[in-house]
Amino acid sequence: MIPATFAQAALRGIRGKCPRCGEGRLFGKWLKPLEHCPVCTLDLTPQRADDFPAYIAILVTGHLMAPLIIMLSLDFELEPLAMVLILVPLALVMMLGMLQPAKGAVIAAQWWFGLHGFVKERLPEDNASDSM
Ligand SMILES: [Zn+2]
Repeated sequence: MIPATFAQAALRGIRGKCPRCGEGRLFGKWLKPLEHCPVCTLDLTPQRADDFPAYIAILVTGHLMAPLIIMLSLDFELEPLAMVLILVPLALVMMLGMLQPAKGAVIAAQWWFGLHGFVKERLPEDNASDSM
């Protein structure tokens, strides 16, 4: 039920699942988290993802787009209008597609580290290795 590692919790968040049980939905609407997990009743109201998912989406999109922009302009020598028509929709789709997974990962991280009122929970055998 409770994830063994932070990576497991983050992956659950990325998939839009509750970071604690991995079964309940995290979001009611696109970017609106539910107040409680419908399966394990984890209180999700302490989450404070704020703008961080958008920063993650911008950072990742920018790093993926930069080589593409360089390749399109140097190797294919596209006209500026053609560049805009290709790159702007692609960037929008990438950023909008990344927002919910990024928000899920941020909420999972906040839960895992016990931030903003989340109660830090660990499997009993992980207590010794987590005390860094
Ligand atoms: Zn749950």
